[in-house]
Amino acid sequence: MGRYTGPACKLCRREGLKLFLKGDRCRMSKCAVETGRPAPGVHGARPSKKSDYGVQLREKQRLRRFYGLQEGQFKLFFQRALRKRGVTGEMLLQLLEMRLDNLVFRLGFSASRRNARQLVLHGHVTVNGKRSDVPSMTLKAGDRIEVKGRKQSQDAVKRVLDARSGELSSWLSLDKEALKGEVLRVPTRDEIAPFVNEQLIVELYSK
Ligand code: SF4
Repeated sequence: MGRYTGPACKLCRREGLKLFLKGDRCRMSKCAVETGRPAPGVHGARPSKKSDYGVQLREKQRLRRFYGLQEGQFKLFFQRALRKRGVTGEMLLQLLEMRLDNLVFRLGFSASRRNARQLVLHGHVTVNGKRSDVPSMTLKAGDRIEVKGRKQSQDAVKRVLDARSGELSSWLSLDKEALKGEVLRVPTRDEIAPFVNEQLIVELYSK
């Protein structure tokens, strides 16, 4: 499946918020959103009135880009959320949060979700003791994630962990020295991407 290979900051400027796509740079004052650069395009700086459809579409794009998914992958997750019992928007957010690449990022093993995907694809991650190279794998409460591989790559992960210390979510546990983490529970709505109005995404796909 294809993936976006263009400039990451352009996506944040389009959405008008920090999507944290670039690792360390996103935590610096050089971040394009923090410096106030306008949305890309000739009319980027001009405020525009959006239709209901435009607002719903923007909300979907924000969430999709936050997790670094292509349209097809995102839609598959939405269809899975539809089949689950509960509020569809919340189910969607929970499914996205429980993706292996997102969890590797949330645990602090990588500087961005994009880097987390690389770690997984290159076979540096195990789930419950078994190597997994599928970034979209959905985990559940009680699952354990570990970073394996050569000392060199483990040292690199430890450096990222040091830089990101203090960012661990309360629904995860981490053994920093052993490079092991565990999903303690599925996060609640308030603990996930609070910037998004998921109901608008449900409305968009219900048309
Ligand atoms: Fe987005 Fe990070 Fe670029 Fe800032 S530095 S605009 S958060 S990708």
